[in-house]
Amino acid sequence: MLSIKNLTVSIDEKVILKDFSLDINDGEIVALMGPNGIGKSTICKVIMGDTHYKIESGSITYNKEDLLSLDVVERSRRGIYLVNQNPIEIEGVSNAEMLRSALECRTGEHTNFFEFNKRVTEICKRLNIPTSFIHRGINEGMSGGEKKKNELLHLYVLEPKFIMLDELDSGLDVDSLRDLATSLKEYLSEDISILIITHHISILEYLKPDRVHVLKGGKIVESGSYDLALSVEGNGFRSYEVSSDGDDE
Ligand code: ADP
Ligand code: MG
Repeated sequence: MLSIKNLTVSIDEKVILKDFSLDINDGEIVALMGPNGIGKSTICKVIMGDTHYKIESGSITYNKEDLLSLDVVERSRRGIYLVNQNPIEIEGVSNAEMLRSALECRTGEHTNFFEFNKRVTEICKRLNIPTSFIHRGINEGMSGGEKKKNELLHLYVLEPKFIMLDELDSGLDVDSLRDLATSLKEYLSEDISILIITHHISILEYLKPDRVHVLKGGKIVESGSYDLALSVEGNGFRSYEVSSDGDDE
């Protein structure tokens, strides 16, 4: 599904990712772990198409298409979705307005008001959030945990195929994490892949990853199974070596 090859990315002249490579197959759940400030969110934003980052070299292909030549709208249309680490608030635009426009933009058809309301109400129930969220401003005045739930509300309406969860678990209480993880498990199918960025094992206990990678010095320094995440949780990242020209900052 997604193939990143030898990607080097910088921002403000500072190299964040160096020769970074990662492959994610259809239906795969991949976890990426690493110390703070190492470039995990950068990877997600670069895949999504954030133009603040400079691609120095390398490639990203998505279903055999050159992803780097597409803008963020086209990437979204192809089913790429990012749940941001810190979801932004958009005042004055309601969830319902944004989602209806996004659906219309995607399908080219007028959304049926009643069908739309029925669907969004069902999703609210699944996420254990009040239906009043539907008409609230996007993430406006919501708590950290509510914002994450609201982002998943968007996700289930837009039905993406490649999902990046950037620290979805941060700011979530135990019950909310279970609700969200359970809803994601129900959503999963053979053609949906997930990249999970996390520091904690709990989310991975629900969404058992097929592979776990450790990022350090701009690239993946260790790969393994679920057991690697357990080892990271127990021992931290200090033992992972960075190759000679790696820059840890
Ligand atoms: P992580 O998600 O692994 O904690 P990030 O990808 O957010 O790390 O950041 C990696 C590095 O890039 C950090 O040193 C951060 O300060 C820097 N960085 C990220 N985005 C920007 C930006 N927009 N402007 C300047 N520096 C940035
Ligand atoms: Mg981050």
